[in-house]
Amino acid sequence: MPSNPVPDAVVDVIEPATEAVMARVPAADVEATRAAVARAKAALPAWRAVAPRDRALLLARIGAGVEAELEALARLEARNAGKPIGDARGEIALVADTFRYFAAAPERLIGQTIPVAGGVNMTFREPLGVVGLITPWNFPLAIASWKIAPALAAGNTVVLKPAALTPLTAIELERIAREAGLPEDVFTVLVGSGRVVGEALVADPDVAKIAFTGSTAVGRRIGALAAESITRVTLELGGKSANVIFADADLEAAAAAAPGAVFGNAGQDCCARARILVQRSAVDRFLELFVAHTKALRVGDPLDEATQMGPLISADQLSEVRSFLDEVPIAAQGRTPDGPGYWFPPTVLAPVTPDARAARDEIFGPIACVIPFEGEAEAIAMANDTIYGLSGSIWTRDGARALRMARAIESGTLSINSNTSVRVTTPFGGFKQSGIGRELGPDALNHYTELKNVFMAT
Ligand code: NAP
Ligand code: MG
Repeated sequence: MPSNPVPDAVVDVIEPATEAVMARVPAADVEATRAAVARAKAALPAWRAVAPRDRALLLARIGAGVEAELEALARLEARNAGKPIGDARGEIALVADTFRYFAAAPERLIGQTIPVAGGVNMTFREPLGVVGLITPWNFPLAIASWKIAPALAAGNTVVLKPAALTPLTAIELERIAREAGLPEDVFTVLVGSGRVVGEALVADPDVAKIAFTGSTAVGRRIGALAAESITRVTLELGGKSANVIFADADLEAAAAAAPGAVFGNAGQDCCARARILVQRSAVDRFLELFVAHTKALRVGDPLDEATQMGPLISADQLSEVRSFLDEVPIAAQGRTPDGPGYWFPPTVLAPVTPDARAARDEIFGPIACVIPFEGEAEAIAMANDTIYGLSGSIWTRDGARALRMARAIESGTLSINSNTSVRVTTPFGGFKQSGIGRELGPDALNHYTELKNVFMAT
C-alpha cells in the first residue's frame, strides 16, 4: 500500500509573520475540478435567465455583504498575506466597490443597431459560459473580485482557483455570495495547486475563458495550454515599472511618495515602481530624502495599526528576493523584527546601471533601484527598455513634458505626480509581456462577453 495515497488532500495555510499554520483547507484534485466545471456548466441556463435587474441586485447584495464583514475579512487577509491591516481594509473596501460598480452592468449590456440594406441589424453582448479564474497571493480577494464581479454581471458562471498560499478570504466570499442569494454552482471556489487544479481548469473543454493574474512565466504556460482549445484568456502579468523623476519636480513630494510605491505590500506588487529613474542633477537630493523616508518605515506585525510593511509571503519568496543583493551596492536599508516570519528590510540600491539583474528582473520584494538619467530622451529609452509595460509614474512641474512622457512610455497605466495605478472605474492592464486584456473600468465587460451580430430581413 502507498504510505501517502493523497499527498495534496489538505493545504496548510501559513501566517507569514509567524510561520505558524493558521488553517488547514481540503484541497481539490483534477476530478473535483472537472466536477465543479460540470456543475457550473449546468447552472448556466438558469443564471443567464435571471432578469438583469435581479442579477444587479444580487451583485449589489454581495458587495454589501463584503462591506458588512469588512473588518473580519481585512484581519484574515492581513494575517494570511502578511499585509498591514490598514492596507487590508482598503483592499476589502475595494472588493465591495468592485461588486457595486459591476452591479450596474447587467442592465447596461447594451448592443447596437447598424444601418444595413434589406433589414435590421443588431448586436448583442452574450455571456461566454463557464469562466475559470486563477489568482495570485499578493492582493488575494481584491484581484479575484476584479474578475468575479464582471464575469457574473455578464451572465457567466465562475470557478475560482485562488493561490494556495492565500485561499481564506475567497472561501469567505463564496459563503457571503451564497448568503446574498447567489444560486448554487454559479460561483465556486476550488482550493489547490496551480499545477493540478489550475491546469485542469485551463484544459477543461467546458471552460470558455481563463482570466489569470500572476507571473509572466505561468501566464505563458496558460496561454499555450489555452491555445489548444482556443479558450479565451485575459492575462495580468508581471511588471518592472519606472518612476521617472525630473529635476523640476516637487522632489519632496516625489521622495515622500516613492517608498509606498515600491515597498508597499513589501514590494510584492505587480505595479511596484521598482526602477526609480532620477534626473542626474537631482539624484543626490532625491536619495537623501528617499533614504530618510525608507529608514523611517515601520516594518512589523501586520495587525499593528502603526505597521507600514509586513513580511514577505513565504520562505521561497524570501530566498528569491535575497538573491538580488549579490552584485549591487546597498545605499540604505530599513529594519525588520527578529524571530519567526519571512522578514526582509526595505532596501535602496544605488547607483545601479540599467543592465544589472536587479534593475531588469521583477524582484517582487522591497528593493528599489535608483538609476540616473540625463534628459527626456534617455528617460523614455530607459523606461521602455524592459519586456514589461504595466504601470509607472512621471514627476515634473512641466505639464507638456508630463504628457509627452505619458504618450511615449509603453505602459498600460501611468500616473503624473502620483503613484496610483488602480481605480474601480478605470482600465487596468499591461502592454508587452505584462499581459493581454484589461480589468476594471468600462472595458472590462467586453472581456467577459462575446459579441453576437444578428440580421433580420424585413
Ligand atoms: P504565479 O506563481 O504565477 O501564480 C499565480 C496563480 O497561478 C496561483 O493561483 C498559482 O497557483 C497558479 N498557477 C501556478 N502554476 C500554474 C499552472 N501551471 N497552471 C495554472 N495555474 C498555475 O504568481 P504568484 O507567485 O502567485 O504571484 C506573483 C506574480 O504575479 C508576480 O510576477 C506579479 O507581477 C504577478 N501579478 C500581476 C498582477 C497584474 O495585475 N498584472 C497582479 C498581481 C500579481 P498556486 O500558487 O496555488 O500553485
Ligand atoms: Mg508562484
